[in-house]
Amino acid sequence: MQTKYVFVTGGVTSSLGKGIISASLAKLLQARGYKVTIQKLDPYLNVDPGTLNPYEHGECYVTDDGAETDLDLGHYERFLNITTSQSNNVTTGRIYQSVIDKERRGDFLGKTVQVIPHITDEIKRRVKLLGSKQNYDVVITEIGGTVGDIESLPYIEAVRQLRWELGRNNCMVIHLTYVPYLAAAGELKTKPTQHSVKMLLEAGVQPDVLVLRAERNLTDDIRHKVALFCNVDHRAVIESIDVSTIYEVPIKMLEEHLDVIVLEKLDLDLGKEPELKPWRDFLSKIQKPKTSVDIALVGKYVELPDAYKSISEAFIHAGAVHDCKVNLHWIHSETLNNENINEKLGKCSGILVAPGFGHRGIEGKLEAAQYARINNVPFFGICLGMQCAVIEFARDVLKLENAHSSEMDDKTKYPVIDLMAEQKNILDLGGTMRLGSYPCKLTKNSKAFQAYNQEDIQERHRHRYEFNSEYLEQFTANGMISTGVNPDTGLVEIIEIPKHRWFVGVQFHPEYKSTVINPHPLFVAFVKNALDLCYETKRKKS
Ligand code: GLN
Repeated sequence: MQTKYVFVTGGVTSSLGKGIISASLAKLLQARGYKVTIQKLDPYLNVDPGTLNPYEHGECYVTDDGAETDLDLGHYERFLNITTSQSNNVTTGRIYQSVIDKERRGDFLGKTVQVIPHITDEIKRRVKLLGSKQNYDVVITEIGGTVGDIESLPYIEAVRQLRWELGRNNCMVIHLTYVPYLAAAGELKTKPTQHSVKMLLEAGVQPDVLVLRAERNLTDDIRHKVALFCNVDHRAVIESIDVSTIYEVPIKMLEEHLDVIVLEKLDLDLGKEPELKPWRDFLSKIQKPKTSVDIALVGKYVELPDAYKSISEAFIHAGAVHDCKVNLHWIHSETLNNENINEKLGKCSGILVAPGFGHRGIEGKLEAAQYARINNVPFFGICLGMQCAVIEFARDVLKLENAHSSEMDDKTKYPVIDLMAEQKNILDLGGTMRLGSYPCKLTKNSKAFQAYNQEDIQERHRHRYEFNSEYLEQFTANGMISTGVNPDTGLVEIIEIPKHRWFVGVQFHPEYKSTVINPHPLFVAFVKNALDLCYETKRKKS
């Protein structure tokens, strides 16, 4: 079957949720039996977001194949329960890099290399490659940025060409815009939408479907007006009303028949009725939780929750398993100290210390790990969070004064966390960490094993430093043990304190693999233990 291509563009303003609309449409098509994937084209010049500060760009999401990608790929995986790869996220930096590499090799045979056709050809090649690689029925390609941005122009031009090359029934465009409500006039305003469609038209692209993001319901009049001025069918003007959770969006899009309209435009049959029971069950669990639990997320980017997107989503998935809403308390590690720790963490039944890089806020993370260890509060350390638990234990229990990670203090006498050997001669920062999926063997009867209920697991990584195995015996003798190792290299992947009710630190990033259908076992176990502590505390009080 010919792969069909759907492009999703955005107008009026950024942050309208193109990623969620794309993921929701993909979910509905998948639920009708189609094989779908999603791709994100990012118009910035970084080759990938790996070197971007989380404040700039939110979380960097890592795929199985070790690509450092946009956080929207996390939504795609969480919604669709599929894995994505390097080819699902392409940036302008990557496009230019490959065109310039080809130019240096002489592949263009003396031609002048230009944005059109060379850059646009490379964009088209990467879009089509994804479709043909795994025989997808539909590839949904989200174009980052907003129509009208100078840097988006080559992408819009590539879409224009592809529609012409592939034909109308094989390629379509959904344009997402915003319809503001002017309280003073008491009206929804369509002018920004009209302008942004006009801008698309100037670039030669007529959208087939308009998804209008709005805080209030669209009247029929509004839909007619937009249809008339923007040359789209009345049915193809879709409302995307604000909802309390992103997981409701597929259901809203189903009610608006987005899937049916798309299938009709692409000349595809409607397939089976969408199978969404597990999704609806999940949704009703998160909308009507029976209980709640307070968990602290200690990190240094907490001002921007997008920096920990996969972690907060993983808590929603794990909470649903226990019919429980996880109230995340975002604690800035820089503000945490010995004086205020009781007040800041005392109400929480679980403490997660987040991943991160660099020295800033590290002392607060060490405090948090110590507080959890001493007070027997469930603790979950992820990547740097695990490393902090190790450093804290070395200082306080093993009495290794000023033990540290050589990332933070390269002169420390006790580098209990140290640079991995293969990292020692690497100078470039981009794409050079230990990235992607690696196997890990669990120790039977450990907390990790109880959570996964299997011995062999695969998890995704993003780090340069590791537990320094020279200290393993000392740690083991004093009550912090390794319960998961890489079977090929012996690298310590998991540490636990068996005497503690639940103290688990992992070198990998479990949050990347949590989906609606497969909540991550470690998050599920952590929330369960936090809930147990919460009940226990309530019982003691009453
Ligand atoms: N900075 C640490 C390292 O590189 C931890 C990385 C992380 O938390 N993702 O090993």
